[in-house]
Amino acid sequence: MGAEKRGKVNAGAVDLQEIECFVLDMDGTINLGDRLIDGAKEYIECMQQKGTQFYFFTNNSSKAPLDYVKKLERLGFTGMTRKHIMTSGDVMIHYLKTHGSDPKVYLAGTPELEVQFREAGITLLGEDTQTADFAVLGFDTTFHFKKADTLCRLVSGGVPFVATNIDRVCPLDGGRFWPDCASMASMITYATGVEPKFVGKPFKETVDYILSKTGMEAQKTAMVGDRLYTDIKTAKNGGIVGIAVLSGEISYGDIVEGDVEPDYILDSVYDIYRAICG
Ligand SMILES: [Mg+2]
Repeated sequence: MGAEKRGKVNAGAVDLQEIECFVLDMDGTINLGDRLIDGAKEYIECMQQKGTQFYFFTNNSSKAPLDYVKKLERLGFTGMTRKHIMTSGDVMIHYLKTHGSDPKVYLAGTPELEVQFREAGITLLGEDTQTADFAVLGFDTTFHFKKADTLCRLVSGGVPFVATNIDRVCPLDGGRFWPDCASMASMITYATGVEPKFVGKPFKETVDYILSKTGMEAQKTAMVGDRLYTDIKTAKNGGIVGIAVLSGEISYGDIVEGDVEPDYILDSVYDIYRAICG
C-alpha cells in the first residue's frame, strides 16, 4: 500500500468550503461516549457563527429527539434545539407521508416514538386494529407479545411492513448489547415470510428526508461519519458527499479494503474546521 492519503479522494466532489449543509453522525464522529473528540467543539461553534446548516443524525428510533439535545448539552454544546436532530423515526415519518395521504399506521415503537409520530400528524391505530396502511416497527425497547401478534396479523394480511433501522444490535457499555430493530423484525419475518422495508441509514430514504427537510442541493450536502457501511454508504446511496473520519470505528486500511468509497478521508472533524474556519 502506498502512502496514506487524506483530504479529498474523489476529485469530482465539491470543496469542503462549498458544502452548505453537514449531517453528522454522533458517536465516533463528534464524541466517544461521554468525551468530545478534539476539535469537535470548535467545528460546531464555527458553523454556528458562520450560519452553516448542520444536523446530527441517529439511527436510534427508541429515544425522543430532545434526549439527543440534552446529550449534546451534556457534551458541552450550546444553542442546540430539536431542529438540529434527525432520527430514523423522522425518516420513517417522511416516508409514510410521501407514500400515502393521511396514512393510518400501526406502530410498534417506544412511547417516545409514538409521540413523534402523533406530533407529525400521523394517525396511530391500536393493537386490536384489523387493518392499516402500514405496519411500522421501530427500535422498540417496550416490545411485547401483543405487538408481535398484531404485526404478524397485519403483515400476513398484506399490510406493507416497514421498519425504522437495519441495525442488528445496539451497543451498550461494557461490551453488552441490546437486540435492535432488525433483530426484532427478523422475528416477524420468520413468522410471516415477509421482509420489511428499512429506511434509516444507509438507505436512500434517509437522504430523501434530509434534502426535503433542508431544501439543499445534494452536491452541497455532506454526511460525516466513522462507519463505511452506514454513514458513507448513505451518502453514496443518496448522491450526497461522503466524508469519512478516522476518529471512531474505521481505519485507513478498512477504507482501502472496503468497497464503499468516501469522497473525503479525514482524521477527524477538526480537519473540516481547519478547511472552513481555520
Ligand atoms: Mg458512529
